[in-house]
Amino acid sequence: MCRGCPPAPRHRYKCGPRHMPMKQPEETTQFLTRCDGKTSCTRRPKMTEKRRVVCPNCDSINAVPTDRPAEAAKCGRCHAKLFQGFPIDLSSERLERHVANSDIPIVVDFWAPWCGPCRAMGPIYAQTTKSIEPRVRFAKVNVDENPQAAARYSIQGIPALVAFREGKVVARQAGLTDAQALRGWVERLAA
Ligand SMILES: [Zn+2]
Repeated sequence: MCRGCPPAPRHRYKCGPRHMPMKQPEETTQFLTRCDGKTSCTRRPKMTEKRRVVCPNCDSINAVPTDRPAEAAKCGRCHAKLFQGFPIDLSSERLERHVANSDIPIVVDFWAPWCGPCRAMGPIYAQTTKSIEPRVRFAKVNVDENPQAAARYSIQGIPALVAFREGKVVARQAGLTDAQALRGWVERLAA
């Protein structure tokens, strides 16, 4: 037993000159080190959960540790910030990739440039994006350019908000929404 090691149960692996750390789940092995029996064991096994976040710039799937601030996280491939404070414009194909590979909820605003209520909701939606990221990803899909996405999610009228979690539609909101109602709706989703 190493002199510097804390007592069980916090000390979850053997240490000492002849003992290798006990086998740990794969994610924790990077935190283990072989103890020399003289110095304190400062490295202890730690469970780090990760959530998948799709890059808004290059669509790479990033694993972001939940114990680090996600708003500062950058894409491992293109180094863009994973959360940039504004809704991201998605095509039908990109929408599918984001929905299928994200561990955070995604809210999508289906809109079109000719639609007055959509334009009215634009600033409200953008403002809410700033305050809710990185708990929820906000995106926009132009239904004129992406009729496949509108058909797939049965968009009857715009603006329409659709919320996804774990690849499935979990909530819908039709028509123009004010800032307070939008905020409440999204908070329930993020909870
Ligand atoms: Zn990227």
